[in-house]
Amino acid sequence: MRRKIKTLFEAVAMPEGKGVTVHRSIGRRGMMNLDPFLLLDEMVLPADADGAGFPEHPHRGFETVTYMLSGKMEHRDSSGHRGTIGPGDVQWMTAGRGIVHSEMPVATGDVAHGFQLWVNLPSAQKMIPPRYQEISASTIPTVMGAGFKAKLLAGELMGEVGPVRDIAVTPFYADITLTAGEATLPVAAGHTAFLYGLEGGLSVEGQAFPTGTLAILADGDSVVVSGRPGARFLMIAGAPIGEPVARYGPFVMNTREEIIATVDDWNEGRFGASA
Ligand code: FE
Repeated sequence: MRRKIKTLFEAVAMPEGKGVTVHRSIGRRGMMNLDPFLLLDEMVLPADADGAGFPEHPHRGFETVTYMLSGKMEHRDSSGHRGTIGPGDVQWMTAGRGIVHSEMPVATGDVAHGFQLWVNLPSAQKMIPPRYQEISASTIPTVMGAGFKAKLLAGELMGEVGPVRDIAVTPFYADITLTAGEATLPVAAGHTAFLYGLEGGLSVEGQAFPTGTLAILADGDSVVVSGRPGARFLMIAGAPIGEPVARYGPFVMNTREEIIATVDDWNEGRFGASA
């Protein structure tokens, strides 16, 4: 069955980090959780944004996924891990029981434009040790299909498998450009799935979705996206977890008690380090 658009939800500009404006769709009032997704920010940091970025902050209980379109971000964390991601690169960080990190743009003369997605972890994995998958653009396959080309970050498409592996919600994450007027893409039935417009002129089953807008799809096993050649969008999907979500800033657990324990751990310095 072909999926239709169930809900359109526009990203809204809001302050985040230090001096940064993000365009948030998932993770704001009216769309706090789109199980298993907890947040989606489109970030655009001007090349000259001196000192603006995301200085040291903690995470626990979920995964943060950064995908850069242009510019560079440098990442450092409490266990000594350090890396820079540039255009087309992905960092899939499983915070698990806790990490403290900073994410700051590197002055390249180009705007740092990218996305951050938060993916929830099931209760059994919330306290696992932190883990990184840093994927360089050169190892992300481009899948050519009828009417589209797709950079496949995670999941399966036409026999290709994206480089991000072993994630609880079996995610699909692709950056897709139409090469003709229409493309049919498979989507796992029962999985939460949405599109996010990057280059305009897109529609699904006759319903247009603008850039900077989340198009949440109704259930089905495929989606037919129409538009002009060059129209571009992210398509992201994952298996819903179906557990209670207790959320406080950068901490996402299952119960209020676990959040209180997490805040205690943070206040008492039991965060970070690799152990
Ligand atoms: Fe972070």
